[in-house]
Amino acid sequence: MCGIAGYFSRTGADVASQVMLSLYSEQHRGQESCGIAASDGKIIRLHKAMGYVKEVFSQQVLHQLPGAVAIGHVRYPTRGSSVLLNAQPYVIETLGGPIYAVASNGDIVNYEEISRWLQTRGVHLASTNDGELIGRFLVYYHEREGLTIPQAIRLLMKKVKGAYSAVFLTRKELYIFRDTYGFRPLYIGEVGDDVAVASESCAMDILRPGSMREVQPGEIIVVTEHKVHSSTQMQPLFEENSQPTRHCVFELIYFARPDSSQFGEYVYDVRQKIGAKLASYDDFDADVVIPVPDSANFMALGYASAKGIPFNFGLIRNHYVGRTFIRPDQYLRDESVRQKFNPLKDFFNNKRVVVVDDSIVRGTTIRKIIRMIRGAGAREIHLRIGSPPVKYSCYYGIDTPTREELIANNMTVEEIQAYVEADSLKYLKLEDLKECVHEPVNFCYACFSGQYPLPKELSAPVTQDEVR
Ligand code: SF4
Repeated sequence: MCGIAGYFSRTGADVASQVMLSLYSEQHRGQESCGIAASDGKIIRLHKAMGYVKEVFSQQVLHQLPGAVAIGHVRYPTRGSSVLLNAQPYVIETLGGPIYAVASNGDIVNYEEISRWLQTRGVHLASTNDGELIGRFLVYYHEREGLTIPQAIRLLMKKVKGAYSAVFLTRKELYIFRDTYGFRPLYIGEVGDDVAVASESCAMDILRPGSMREVQPGEIIVVTEHKVHSSTQMQPLFEENSQPTRHCVFELIYFARPDSSQFGEYVYDVRQKIGAKLASYDDFDADVVIPVPDSANFMALGYASAKGIPFNFGLIRNHYVGRTFIRPDQYLRDESVRQKFNPLKDFFNNKRVVVVDDSIVRGTTIRKIIRMIRGAGAREIHLRIGSPPVKYSCYYGIDTPTREELIANNMTVEEIQAYVEADSLKYLKLEDLKECVHEPVNFCYACFSGQYPLPKELSAPVTQDEVR
């Protein structure tokens, strides 16, 4: 998943703190590592480490990152292992010193090919993450082939396929761009005379921008001391601009914070609509509707409102158990759901409960949750899932397991119901999911349908003709 942020001060003030605030608001997008690169106009300084934003960026560390322009990143690994080498931003040293930095959210589909092609040009990657590949591609074409940075980004958009919302930093300029499909979200806004950028609108809100908007798919924005320049004001990017957008619908279902806007939608609103759709499938009475917190909260609220059944929180989530939680032995692994969720005492006694969750991936977690609720006294448990069955892996920046590990790829809905030990199980229908957004044609649904906007393997050699 991952989240990115950036800030450009027109007054010359240090901005690492602003980037830290945005990253802190995006912590849900990545908890493995984080980093900030800041330019003081001469060199770029970097600090990155494994762990949470608040732990990594003390005031002392922020003071060591002076500069009026900075970018940052929170990482949830998809490509590349969870080690500091793969943390972002990625700073690229040249003969002029550390004068470029990049941070990106997404996955590049033809990474291997572009990586091999760069190696044939003597450009070697130190890490295995997509951010470095993007940065080295741009620096190669800028420094060695003489392209301007916007020209290099255009070439990248033509040749490097997949999902990337990215920020690229030079000593005095900030470049903001998004792949032509618009898989991952990206916002830009004005904070007084300054410019801020972040993956989610909630990470902009913290800076109180006077205005903000989504960076358009395929758009390139250049921020300098004097102006903000968008590719929409330049010549057309290339003929493929007519290609459709493919926003990740799973951002709305699960990844994004409910107080964010994305792809023209309010996340909380989409989730409530999903809940209402699920409610329309049922004609039985239940005593209470509960979410698996937090991502299903608004879905359960939408279900309960539509049915007139009381909504409540039967499970309390420990917010200090993150995805990176390390389970040191088998006993703790088995207890992992208990570490994250605890049922309210005497809440479930003899109740007929509707449990709403956003999705089922392997099925092991929801099975433990249902056992926990039944053990707490529930009489009936009806499981409702706010997405269609996840049957296919994602290649665009989400860490889904292999297809073989996805329970919906291996079992029917009836078999899954039996496996998770629910009294009934219903998934959101794909056609109903599409009715929960305003422009359904603009979304990717590949993990449900298997219809990928981009094939997994691509052939995209860069010819010398295309460089100019
Ligand atoms: S495959 Fe699924 S998770 Fe991946 S981008 Fe498409 S909708 Fe999002």
